[in-house]
Amino acid sequence: MPPRTRRHFLKTTAATLLAGCSPRPIPPTSNQQLTTSNSNSIIDLHQHTNYSDRTDGQLLAHQRNMGVTTTILLPAGHPAERPSTHMGRSNGLAARTGPNETCYRLAQEHPGQYHFFANETPDVENARQEIEKYLKLGALGIGEQKFNIDVESDAFTLIADLAKDYAVPVLCHFQIGMYNHGYDRLWRVLDRYPTVPFIAHAQTTWANIDRNADNDPRNLYPKTPVATGGLTDQYLSDYANFYADMSAGSGLNALTRDPDRAKAFILRHQDKLIYGSDCNDLPGKPPICQGALTITAIKRLSPSKQIARKLLHDNAAKLFRL
Ligand SMILES: [Zn+2]
Ligand SMILES: [Zn+2]
Repeated sequence: MPPRTRRHFLKTTAATLLAGCSPRPIPPTSNQQLTTSNSNSIIDLHQHTNYSDRTDGQLLAHQRNMGVTTTILLPAGHPAERPSTHMGRSNGLAARTGPNETCYRLAQEHPGQYHFFANETPDVENARQEIEKYLKLGALGIGEQKFNIDVESDAFTLIADLAKDYAVPVLCHFQIGMYNHGYDRLWRVLDRYPTVPFIAHAQTTWANIDRNADNDPRNLYPKTPVATGGLTDQYLSDYANFYADMSAGSGLNALTRDPDRAKAFILRHQDKLIYGSDCNDLPGKPPICQGALTITAIKRLSPSKQIARKLLHDNAAKLFRL
């Protein structure tokens, strides 16, 4: 299915507004908390325990070397042989990452520096109970949701309902043909859950900054110049409850493939873009560490230091009340 056109999108949005169901803006938190952070603090929205078998000690060193001061750990679901996990092939978020208890433990050991999300394979019987257990223990959100399901399925709805009930964001990995199918229909979910912040991540999110994105699973990291106004650009502009996570090779590629368009994109969406690393290397330094390269790219391409601060710290601090 081709991406919806801007015209169609605006028509839909206008109809929604007329129907009185416009997305409600997320209430801003006080700026008081933000002033306490020093100007070099960096919040990393997207890391994992046991990532490609990296130890906790190696993860801590990696984050220190990147200059990250606060890390949010995203658990995998527990291993399950379900269609949602490609019958087990995508267990551990397809990267051998650890489940809830590993993220919770590390956050307990490093209060203030490490936080955690709650997660579970969304179509297993005890998914709700497992996620609720960790939300009650202080999880900041639900995710990383990276499963072979449709955004309009019962499994996805369970996650969105939980996020609504507990007033937390959901972080989703969108990858055409693999995970969270129906990115072009996500607007229906955004309309249905105006109070839930959805944080979009991965290849399909970032390929769709381009109006001409081909959404071909064999072309997940396009290098061509960007035609402004892709689906992700539209969601960011039109939905107060849609955010984008800049992590991984896909986020970095979106910044570097067309630097002039990237600068304009950052300017337009300076309050909705959130830095994350999602890298599994050991050094935590350039040239190997993609998370460190993304920090450099954000600093280089942001129109001002203040805007770079928003991406690297303030937007996450506001959303998660850190
Ligand atoms: Zn990840
Ligand atoms: Zn790294």
